[in-house]
Amino acid sequence: MATFKDFRNNVKPNWCPGCGDFSVQAAIQRAAANVGVIPEQLAVVSGIGCSGRISGYINSYGLHGIHGRSLPIAQGVKMANRELTVIASGGDGDGFAIGMGHTIHAIRRNIDVTYIVMDNQIYGLTKGQTSPRSDLGFKTKSTPEGSIESSLSVMELALASGAGFVAQSFSSDLKELTSLIEQGMNHKGFSLINVFSPCVTFNKINTYAWFKENLISLSTVEDYDPENRMKAMNTLMTYDGLVTGLIYQNKQKPSYESMVKGFKEESLASQELSLKKEEFEQL
Ligand code: SF4
Ligand code: MG
Repeated sequence: MATFKDFRNNVKPNWCPGCGDFSVQAAIQRAAANVGVIPEQLAVVSGIGCSGRISGYINSYGLHGIHGRSLPIAQGVKMANRELTVIASGGDGDGFAIGMGHTIHAIRRNIDVTYIVMDNQIYGLTKGQTSPRSDLGFKTKSTPEGSIESSLSVMELALASGAGFVAQSFSSDLKELTSLIEQGMNHKGFSLINVFSPCVTFNKINTYAWFKENLISLSTVEDYDPENRMKAMNTLMTYDGLVTGLIYQNKQKPSYESMVKGFKEESLASQELSLKKEEFEQL
């Protein structure tokens, strides 16, 4: 059985000291060990952004894709080899701006992929511009007088899109984050885990101290039931999306794989390519 150390490689992350993404990396490594996979059974696909580097820092199959496209790649990997446990990852700009269409359709499609978003509410790699998750009034070099666009409510959007698993965490809560990633990996279908992961270099508003003061743990919300979608939506709206924990899970929603008619049980990767050249040409 693998331990979290087996998911380490010798590549030294070049994130800024204190970046929230370090903890996300550690949480993925721990969760993978806890669910009982070995590095050869795990694939981590990432998009572009500071967060996109994560696939290179984990000892597993990895693919650093293009901006906003980690989900199409990850879904393709899973459909080609369903024996792999597949994690897609990226940032808020990556997944909730250019990649937003893929995010919504991956949610409703429900292929068994765990999508982890490192949400720092800014574009970090390009040195600090306003993102779709930045708050109204947020000042950066792209909005020097303050953003006049409101922040996208991604957790509400995920619920409204029919998500079967929606969770949110904070990178400095390694225990909760690891547990939510484990639950997401064990969930049969698409799981979205949004992680507040502070950019210590460019976002001087949404800092570790700010999150500690403003985030509400769902464990403190009276009678919270993650199987109650209405309550989940209501709670998100009450706290302006600033909650952490398992927001919603629907274990009954069938995965895409289980719905494909006539799809062979074994993965494409383990099937022999049986078409002869003449048969192929007739297709
Ligand atoms: Fe992390 Fe921000 Fe540095 Fe990027 S710029 S590595 S998001 S702290
Ligand atoms: Mg970002």
